[in-house]
Amino acid sequence: MTISLPEGVQYLIRKLEQNGGEAYAVGGCVRDALRGAAPNDWDLCTSATPGQILDILQGEKVLETGLKHGTVTVLLPDGAYEVTTYRVDGTYSDGRHPDQVTFTNQITDDLARRDFTINAMAYHPSRGLVDPFGGVQDLQDGLIQTVGDADKRFDEDSLRILRGLRFASTLGFDLSEACSASIHRNRNLLVRVSKERIQVELSKLLLGDGVKKILVQYHDVLSQVIPSIEPMVGFAQRNVHHCFDVWEHTAHAVAWASKDLIVRWTMLLHDMGKPCCFSMTEGNGHFYGHAGESANIARTVLADLRMDHNTIQKVVQLVEVHDLPLPQTDKAVKRWLNRLGKEQFLRLTQVHRADILAQAPHYQQKKLDAVDRSLHCMEKVIREGQCFSIRDLAVDGRDILAAGVPAGPGVGRMLQHLLELVIDQVLDNNRECLLREVNNHVKGG
Ligand code: ATP
Ligand code: MG
Repeated sequence: MTISLPEGVQYLIRKLEQNGGEAYAVGGCVRDALRGAAPNDWDLCTSATPGQILDILQGEKVLETGLKHGTVTVLLPDGAYEVTTYRVDGTYSDGRHPDQVTFTNQITDDLARRDFTINAMAYHPSRGLVDPFGGVQDLQDGLIQTVGDADKRFDEDSLRILRGLRFASTLGFDLSEACSASIHRNRNLLVRVSKERIQVELSKLLLGDGVKKILVQYHDVLSQVIPSIEPMVGFAQRNVHHCFDVWEHTAHAVAWASKDLIVRWTMLLHDMGKPCCFSMTEGNGHFYGHAGESANIARTVLADLRMDHNTIQKVVQLVEVHDLPLPQTDKAVKRWLNRLGKEQFLRLTQVHRADILAQAPHYQQKKLDAVDRSLHCMEKVIREGQCFSIRDLAVDGRDILAAGVPAGPGVGRMLQHLLELVIDQVLDNNRECLLREVNNHVKGG
């Protein structure tokens, strides 16, 4: 097994080994290289102590990012590399961080502290692969399992529970029976993990190819971090449009969605309000008002997980309107473009598509055709440069003021009024026409 290492990694290994020490590429980069994927980042580990690393790398740009734990970041022409002294983690009393770390000169000790077998491999350009826990086999088998006893490893650091689900989702792997059972059993330990870290892991998990299976099989674990999931599980929809319960529909919808974080979060949250909006008439289930309720839940869930403001705002907006029919005429499309902007409108069509594909097959084609019609309309409006926002108008605020509208909110209202007339094709978007309309208003008081 040969891995081609970046220039910077080869250089650092040579350098760190000059004085008789050892160094390897380690962890995620080895895993990704072995499965033929491009690693996000290359990490190194070495027998050199932190002090020796600093000595050896004198003259390089070195950031002492985590020197206490033995980690420095080296900035080389082809990238930034983390170099960490081989270490053994001590006891964990907070369920997240080791109380102390001890440095060691054995690579296998360092690999043993790592979370999963597929993440516990190291590679050296001449000595080859070090794989004491069967990582290669698990990569081949598509299996996530902990290094050592799962209960113990999840108790030490409970973030690993979500990392396990995240890797299963992104790699499309299964969790070993022992690991899976342990994750279900220890799910309540997730209270010890910070909301930020939970959010980061969930975001990665949502983008995975294997996300559907993980959402369906680990709803109990995910309910620990997003309690509104639980009432959705097994909640029958009792109407002709649906063939799945609310949670299974959600899982399918997430998996059908384009790999855009905003769209995937939207699909996860879009029906969370359903269980509390359920009603029945003549044997049919309804969820009147669920989009608004889901939007409220979405805002709360994302804020609780410390999601950034922009993502919250965009997801909540999409959840809020996900249930309205998509516009089918130029005029209607322009109104929507004015309200959402092009980027969000495109996402909304993706939300519709994913939602439809997760529903009963019977009506799917008709509904998908409506999405396509809406998209075509939008492309036409954009291609023809049709006006759909105040920015596109042939007049601006200065013109309105010059025409005698007093400064203040009346200026914006006038622009909005003109826009509506232009969108409705009552007025052409040219200066003369628009100024005539403004003057009529000013004169009419
Ligand atoms: P990616 O960078 O693609 O998210 P990764 O496996 O590289 O995945 P990192 O968080 O960059 O993940 O961590 C690098 C390596 O450090 C991991 O491969 C693993 O060996 C080890 N590691 C990371 N987090 C933990 C943890 N919570 N417990 C034990 N080992 C961990
Ligand atoms: Mg990494």
